[in-house]
Amino acid sequence: MTTPRRRFLVQSSSMVLLLTTPMLARGATLMSIRVWPAPEYTRLTLESDGPLSAAHQVLNDPPRLVVDIQGLQLDNPLRELAGKVKSDDPFIKDVRVGQYKPDVVRLVIDLKQAVKPQVFSLLPVAAYQNRLVFDLYPAHSGDRLMAFMQQQEALDRDRQVGTGTAQTAPPQSLAQAQTGQQDSLGDWIRQHRSELDNPQTAPQPPHVLADNTPTQRPDPVRRDRRNFRSVLLAIDPGHGGEDPGATGPSGVHEKDMVLLIARHLRDLAMNTPNMRVMMTRDSDYFVPLWTRVEKAQSANADLFTSIHADGWFTPEARGASVYCLSDGGASSVEARLMAQRENAADAIGGIDINSRSYQVAKVLLDMSTTAKINASLKMARPTLGKMGELVHLHSKQVQQASFAVLKSPSIPSMLVETAFISNPEEEARLQTPAYRKQIARAIFEGLRAYLDTNPPLARRRVLT
Ligand SMILES: [Zn+2]
Repeated sequence: MTTPRRRFLVQSSSMVLLLTTPMLARGATLMSIRVWPAPEYTRLTLESDGPLSAAHQVLNDPPRLVVDIQGLQLDNPLRELAGKVKSDDPFIKDVRVGQYKPDVVRLVIDLKQAVKPQVFSLLPVAAYQNRLVFDLYPAHSGDRLMAFMQQQEALDRDRQVGTGTAQTAPPQSLAQAQTGQQDSLGDWIRQHRSELDNPQTAPQPPHVLADNTPTQRPDPVRRDRRNFRSVLLAIDPGHGGEDPGATGPSGVHEKDMVLLIARHLRDLAMNTPNMRVMMTRDSDYFVPLWTRVEKAQSANADLFTSIHADGWFTPEARGASVYCLSDGGASSVEARLMAQRENAADAIGGIDINSRSYQVAKVLLDMSTTAKINASLKMARPTLGKMGELVHLHSKQVQQASFAVLKSPSIPSMLVETAFISNPEEEARLQTPAYRKQIARAIFEGLRAYLDTNPPLARRRVLT
């Protein structure tokens, strides 16, 4: 193994070199390498103009990940890789590359801690060509999926023992309500776990109950209403990392603007008595849509607000909008297209669709009930109304469509489009702290208006 330190080879000249190297005619050309360190995991992305074939192994003492990539030569952007690792990366200590065989490059990733890598390939999508992705998760982080299931079961039990009022807490679990059987959702998943591991044979989830028996619906807003407690807001800055979201005409990324707005919103809430906040991300890295939901569920958040600033096909579109989940078709063509664009985040950001986590998440997120959607609308309408007093609205109605990130099984959820980044004026406005604070204030006042006027009793008391 060699440890080359000739870095920062000019990419264009390396490309010329690659194109004139006959040996590489059968291989792919590496276009770009990106490293996305984050508290939860570090992602390493190799982007190439053709699929890369790689084998990997995890070694200990010291911990390292060894990857052999077929059809590559060392004289390419791989040399820059070591320079992209930051000293504060929580997982990667160093990266070494070497020409292991004539057409095999060996990558040795020296680790700061033992990892559980997820390695997967992605086909070209959006602006990306083929990607080979290494997601390095801590080896001892516990089973997040199991934690999610246990949390879901706790919610089911919570409903079974009737923590809410008699008319709002049914004597059956959500899963029982949906299946009409005694099995809990956790039991169902456990029974089908081996099948879920194999997407080819993955079973269909329990049927979603038609909303024709409202007195038996659990009301997610009213759970725990007996308890006097603070309100936990889940704030979800859209996109991040490999997924830039929409990009404005001058090149501003949605992911950056919405993170800044989310931080303002967090600060407003944190300075309010009896309000607490959890963020689904607080730096520039990709979080899969279902993981955002799972984080909010695991934290027992009371409300979920996803923050975006998307683009449209024409530059004229402007103003803020609020969206909720729909249980059928979208409320407008625009809402349907907006949901399609948002739901593409997973494909662009990159997830391993063969992983068990993804398969189970698909099941869990397909169980939204009309009652839950109604609870979300109860939050979204006053929020939109209050926002209309402070910022220009694109639509005066809450719109609905099938947004994956709003499919929390039990948390009222809405998605706020803070502006159209595709509108040059709004893109410029998004870059000013004053506007970002104003839109954060608008969302905050909206949430407060909701909590003041449509609260569970406990929330009314904690906000006065
Ligand atoms: Zn977005």
